[in-house]
Amino acid sequence: MNCIFCKIISREIPAKILKETTNSISFLDAFPLAKGHVLVIPKNHRQKIQDMTEKENSDLFSLVRTMISKSDSITGSTLLAVHNGIDAGQEVPHVHVHLVPRSNSDSAGAIHSMFNGSLKLSDSEIEDLYEKLKI
Ligand code: AMP
Ligand code: ZN
Repeated sequence: MNCIFCKIISREIPAKILKETTNSISFLDAFPLAKGHVLVIPKNHRQKIQDMTEKENSDLFSLVRTMISKSDSITGSTLLAVHNGIDAGQEVPHVHVHLVPRSNSDSAGAIHSMFNGSLKLSDSEIEDLYEKLKI
């Protein structure tokens, strides 16, 4: 499979691997947005979170939890991000959780700064969305 993250897992291409568990692996992002930008990924190739088994998911987020305590030692705050699908900004089609140490002097903002303001939805639109999304 021509997946750059699968090649990191199989050691076909180099990476600064920080921690490996049975189902997950963590390494430094090669193009860091901040000092200490880390990725945590499942070892099995899955494009989206919902493609993973519950066990893979719980192992992934267990390693995320472990790595956050390391990441938080850099600035004290860590942004977690998952681009879950191409239109969500996913460039590598293998699930990965970004851990980006944040500080109040960096160039990023809150999630709302990614968009041109919040939407004004009508009551019926809210009701439709509620019906679509509730479980
Ligand atoms: P995304 O845009 O969410 O798909 O993020 C993909 C991430 O993978 C980016 O932050 C890249 O900097 C990172 N990346 C791409 N190639 C490599 C590589 N060979 N080793 C480590 N990180 C990489
Ligand atoms: Zn892969």
